[in-house]
Amino acid sequence: MGMSPRAAELLRVVHESPGTTRADAARAIGIGTGAATEVVAQLAAAELVGERPAQRTGGRGRPTTVLVPHERGPLVLAVSITHEAWLLQAVEIGGAVVAGAGSAETGSGDDDADGAGRDAPVVLADIRAAVTRLRRRFPRRVRAIGVAAPGTVAGTTVGHATGRSWRNLDLRAIWPRAEFFVAGNDATLAAAAESSRGAAVGAEVALHIRLQAGVGGAVVDRGRVLTGAHGFGGEFGHVPLGDPAVTCPCGASGCWGTAVDGSALARLLGRREPRDPVAFLDRAASAASTDARTRAAVGAVVDALGRGVAGFVNAIDPDVVTLGGSAVPLMRAEPQRLAAAYDAGLMRVRRDAPPMLLPAALGEQGPVTGAAELAWQAVWAHL
Ligand SMILES: [Zn+2]
Repeated sequence: MGMSPRAAELLRVVHESPGTTRADAARAIGIGTGAATEVVAQLAAAELVGERPAQRTGGRGRPTTVLVPHERGPLVLAVSITHEAWLLQAVEIGGAVVAGAGSAETGSGDDDADGAGRDAPVVLADIRAAVTRLRRRFPRRVRAIGVAAPGTVAGTTVGHATGRSWRNLDLRAIWPRAEFFVAGNDATLAAAAESSRGAAVGAEVALHIRLQAGVGGAVVDRGRVLTGAHGFGGEFGHVPLGDPAVTCPCGASGCWGTAVDGSALARLLGRREPRDPVAFLDRAASAASTDARTRAAVGAVVDALGRGVAGFVNAIDPDVVTLGGSAVPLMRAEPQRLAAAYDAGLMRVRRDAPPMLLPAALGEQGPVTGAAELAWQAVWAHL
């Protein structure tokens, strides 16, 4: 549709801050109340924005309305695939989830026989069926799809899915005729989501580090995610800060990821490589307070985490660091130890005001939230 520049700006405000009052939205884009009435009417006629009466908070001022996504407005689908499960959401303008679906693959831990081993065609067919159901439930409203996948993602193809035996897999099988189909690495999308709707909103330079099956993340520079020239940036787990005697599945030796994941913990405990290293690490971190041996091993992993994060802070100079995935149970298990290892690794000039280490506000919703935002970016100019 041919949207006026003012309408496009106002729609952006509704997307970033749904529920904002009409008066505040008008102020945010620098137009008067008369113009705002006109622009909102345009957006309502296009079924993009709706209005609801604002809750009265006091007796003063004229009643106003709040701007919300239109009840028949466009939707995007967002998919998150992990090493063991998948999640699908239908998302409206403003980011709210209006419907969802998910796999029965659950993190059952070491005896999980149906997770990482499942064939890609089976998993993609399951997701495709769920996508078809949501498209039927919201006829003509679903405009785009974004997919977050583990491992290296170029275009819509997963080169190697971390924790799954998938190689060179085209995700478009999920919805082959989609007009707008976009995909990205899960940790990179989680980083984007923390900066747009999570704990790093307003940061100049945010660093997000996510431990899952593999360690990833991204630097977000004033809202722009640095994905690298080929889309493979943010592979913090493959920086050689680990033990050079340990070979990483990536082919390099001494990768940091091998010092902070479930396999590192198993080595420290003298145990075999667990079938699901993510569940193994998460369980140990939450049980660490009860068992001295586990606690010591978790502590050593936390030390490696804190040291590595300090190294990236020294190199990148962010004003906030958000930690996601298994880093959250680790930081909750040993907060003081993490702080000490982080502090010891920082250059002296940074120690007076080191960037805060915050748990990712979106938690496990980070990748799927980032996938939805990526889909909105793809379709935005065509609304
Ligand atoms: Zn590696």
